Amino acid sequence: MPELPEVETVRKGLQELIIGKKIKSVSSDWPKSFPNDQSQVNLYIINSSIIDVRRRAKLLIIDLSSGYSLVTHLKMTGQLVFRSNKQNFGAGHPSNSLVGKLPDKSTRVIISFSDSSKLFFNDQRKFGWMKLTEKKDILKHFTSIYGPEPLDSSFTTTAFKNRLLTRPRSVIKAVLLDQRVIAGVGNIYSDESLWAARIHPLTPTYQLTDQKIKLLHKSLIDVLQLAIKEGGSSDRNYVNAKGQKGSYIKIAKVFRREGQSCPRCNHEIKKMRVIGRGTHYCPYCQRLKIGKIES
Ligand SMILES: [Zn+2]
Repeated sequence: MPELPEVETVRKGLQELIIGKKIKSVSSDWPKSFPNDQSQVNLYIINSSIIDVRRRAKLLIIDLSSGYSLVTHLKMTGQLVFRSNKQNFGAGHPSNSLVGKLPDKSTRVIISFSDSSKLFFNDQRKFGWMKLTEKKDILKHFTSIYGPEPLDSSFTTTAFKNRLLTRPRSVIKAVLLDQRVIAGVGNIYSDESLWAARIHPLTPTYQLTDQKIKLLHKSLIDVLQLAIKEGGSSDRNYVNAKGQKGSYIKIAKVFRREGQSCPRCNHEIKKMRVIGRGTHYCPYCQRLKIGKIES
């Protein structure tokens, strides 16, 4: 599943390619991938132009000149591939469909533009979707559940602390993964930011001092920004907007590095399960304080 940096990389790639393009036709072979009424498609997609490609949490939002948007979730195996005479860009699940002839058996939606270029939404396992929604309803239907965007300027240390305080008794790793607390952070970047801030993943949130919260806030932003710069991770099923694997995973400090040495203290990196997710940490420089447990 892509995290914030991966979806942001898709967004940046598509933004360069499809803004201003006019949609000539749309076809889809699977109603769950494109659950939109045909009369609405005719009214609000056909002949409209793409005016923006945005991201909120892990959702991609393609805004149309009709006042509607295509809200898209790639889920596990989704990919977006743009093809024209001159360019071939693909992003998402790294299957051969990124470079092969399209449409193929993974193609769920084809958006054809007036200049003959095309955008393909491929999704082998069919968990992803592209939903036509009136722009003013996006908040109500999709995004009101999400916490703040960690890279927005309004996401200050104080804002972060206030979000953490909504789940004081939960362990910090679980809180970072909770999309209602902060949007877009998943397994890779929670492990990496906790390591950077020297916080044990099982630390209950209420035990974090203001100084630790400040450090974690900074680490989280640094880790996400670096990952975007690197084009996202190449975690199993993700490649960046140019169809290349992102390189973040190569520079990850603890993620999938169990058994290797901690780059900071040389002790062995361990892996454990936290709310069912494989969690990587250094037991030496991320120590768990056995504090008084509040009742
Ligand atoms: Zn260490």
